[in-house]
Amino acid sequence: MDIISHGLWGGIAFGRTDKKRFWLAVLFGMAPDLFAFGLLSARVILGFAPWPQFTFGHPDPSFIPPYVLELYNLSHSLVIFAAVFLLVWFIRKRPLWEMSAWGLHVLFDIFTHSEQFFPTPFLWPVSDMRFAGISWSHPLIFIPNVLALAVLYGYWLMPGKRRAAEVEPEPAIESDTEPEPVYEYEQYR
Ligand SMILES: [Zn+2]
Repeated sequence: MDIISHGLWGGIAFGRTDKKRFWLAVLFGMAPDLFAFGLLSARVILGFAPWPQFTFGHPDPSFIPPYVLELYNLSHSLVIFAAVFLLVWFIRKRPLWEMSAWGLHVLFDIFTHSEQFFPTPFLWPVSDMRFAGISWSHPLIFIPNVLALAVLYGYWLMPGKRRAAEVEPEPAIESDTEPEPVYEYEQYR
């Protein structure tokens, strides 16, 4: 999946309560790719590494330096994700749910990367098992992905939805346990 979609999926799945949590979930959604490709991208932009050659819509894998593959293994493993998630839970004494966007990123990548370009090492370092999915740049994945995001965000951010929910009248609670008037007891004392 492309990095923008990853961020948006993370945000809508785990960051709907407030702005801060939303952006944190977006960041965790993009983090696995930022971690793997950030350094290489910075080096390319600053002129320390050559621009990768593009073939069939994605860079030729032979242009990818080995350290990127190492970083990719680390950030695209459900084993590493689970370990870090539990460690953070242990340190904070409560889970950081927005981190789940990282796990969701890996789940999406398992099925949206072909064997030719970064198949997801989701069980690394326990197993090198990878799944031959359909590339996210394929219209069969890309178009439904954009549509699904548009529908979900459209529904979530629909103007007036929240206000309508707020003004909904509270159901009147019929109560037959009215407090007994105290003065009556006081009178006959
Ligand atoms: Zn990824």
